[in-house]
Amino acid sequence: MMSLTNRNKVVSKKQMSFLEKLYLPAVFGGMAITLKHTFMKKATIRYPEVKRPFSDIYRGRHVLKRDEEGRERCTACGLCALACPAEAITMVSAERLPGEEHLYREEKYARIYEINMLRCIYCGLCESACPKEAIFLTQEIVDAEYHRDHFIYGKDKLVEPADPDKRIDVSKRQTPEVLKFKTLPDQKHNI
Ligand code: SF4
Ligand code: SF4
Repeated sequence: MMSLTNRNKVVSKKQMSFLEKLYLPAVFGGMAITLKHTFMKKATIRYPEVKRPFSDIYRGRHVLKRDEEGRERCTACGLCALACPAEAITMVSAERLPGEEHLYREEKYARIYEINMLRCIYCGLCESACPKEAIFLTQEIVDAEYHRDHFIYGKDKLVEPADPDKRIDVSKRQTPEVLKFKTLPDQKHNI
């Protein structure tokens, strides 16, 4: 029969020698390999105590940003959900009421904003689509969970802390070209 690859190998059917029948050379050979690997540099790390450094633009779990005054930037326009190829984003908008100007930057905001982290493929298209610099992917990875429901992240997990010292730095995700674009007079609303 013709073989499909050139990786075929004829199996030897020769009689085993006395030493081979003892299996000791094979056992010692295996132990030598194990011993050698004991002293070699390990390929694994003790995660989560030890973490590998990620790229500056690694696309991990999302953050919903606040502006300099601590107001939520998202205006629930829905462009991120529209751009999302995995249909992972859902939201319910609400109108900002008088007296809530310190909470929400725009007149409309996301009362509910959810991302299904099991559906998300971390493509970053939501970040690109957002006209308000409201959503970014971060270097944080999504925690392991036992229940599927727990992978649906709401605003409690997505919106960054109001405390200025605990804000999520996304400056590395903003290229010089993006920052220059935002200084254009007709793009001031994005800042
Ligand atoms: S990163 Fe991609 S898949 Fe994930 S929510 Fe954003 S657009 Fe959807
Ligand atoms: S995150 Fe950005 S694109 Fe998505 S709804 Fe909010 S403002 Fe619109």
